[in-house]
Amino acid sequence: MRPIQMVDTKTQYLKIKEQVDEGIQRVLDSAAYINGSPVKDFASKLSSYLNVKHVITCGNGTDALQIAMMALGLEPGDEVITPSFTYVATTEVVALLKLQPVFVEVDKETFNIDPAAIEAAITPKTKAIVPVHLYGQAANMEEIMAIAQRHNLFVIEDNAQAIGCNYTLADGTVKKAGTIGTIGTTSFYPSKNLGAYGDGGAIFTNDDALAEKLQMIANHGQKVRYYHEMVGCNSRLDSIQAAVLNVKLDHLDQYIAARQKAAAFYDAAFKGSDKITVPKTASFTDHVYHQYTVILNDVDRDGLSKYLASRQIPSMIYYPVPAHRQRMFSDFGGSNYNLPVTDWLTERVISLPMHTELDEEQLQYISDQLLQFVQQ
Ligand SMILES: *Cc1c(COP(=O)(O)O)cnc(C)c1O
Repeated sequence: MRPIQMVDTKTQYLKIKEQVDEGIQRVLDSAAYINGSPVKDFASKLSSYLNVKHVITCGNGTDALQIAMMALGLEPGDEVITPSFTYVATTEVVALLKLQPVFVEVDKETFNIDPAAIEAAITPKTKAIVPVHLYGQAANMEEIMAIAQRHNLFVIEDNAQAIGCNYTLADGTVKKAGTIGTIGTTSFYPSKNLGAYGDGGAIFTNDDALAEKLQMIANHGQKVRYYHEMVGCNSRLDSIQAAVLNVKLDHLDQYIAARQKAAAFYDAAFKGSDKITVPKTASFTDHVYHQYTVILNDVDRDGLSKYLASRQIPSMIYYPVPAHRQRMFSDFGGSNYNLPVTDWLTERVISLPMHTELDEEQLQYISDQLLQFVQQ
């Protein structure tokens, strides 16, 4: 059996090596390391794939969130509603910009932000909602957009984990996750579903004026070189990463299908077990399985992860500490929150190996070993 990894980017690379190496070589030959033609090509290819009017590339997914919040003109003290059960980047940029993060609960079955909790957390200071499409399925965007409309709020979709995920609106229209809110953001960190071989990120919007502002902010607040109209930052996707992404975007749907196939294998294997609750997908969204995360019922989680590790099976806890319990947010009132669902999930989730290169022998071995431990 091939060694099992949480993410296997090397095996995936070897299958597209020729195209990727050629793309990188072209950048080296052109010497256009920054803003070369692969960057423009990628932005335009991604905007067609997502069916969104504007794609602005940037340095990483955290910058993408920061630039989005800067472009919306939020003022210090403005409240931004986000889940506490997420990767730190989502909430960190809120604090970095001196905005006030307001942490709300997630749904116990989908791990995504609970629309009812959003509505309950709105105050006159609320300016934006940042749903995170956690683990690869979209949050309830239609309800979130309705709430945003009622209260005149911006919506920034943190789509770092769900690129390519399809969302079906009540009228049957299908949209890509990240293109429904005011702005969507994503990350091309190597382990993400569309991963570069270094850092990268992007911002999406259908709003022309916002797109122009996002582009300017990502480039030192300038439209014309050396004429800086606003305070921005320096955040770029480099040409080599864009060349890699241009190749990988052509394979994204096939990569998603491979992840879904692995997830279906796990689902079937764990179906009979009352110790393992497999991930549930909401009716309005696909699941692109950035992670395959289960809930353990009455299982010693530390013991399980040690047992798996001793059998050369990696596993991860995403995430061991929710935002409201991070010391980072102690000055933002983090400890005042009572989020029982978030805490409950934090203590029980475990993520299993999930990537495009898992074969049936590996999946069978992982499932067998996991069941062996929980049923003992
Ligand atoms: C990965 C990730 C980010 C940040 O992306 P980077 O490219 O690492 O900065 C933000 N939000 C979520 C939910 C992520 O998973």
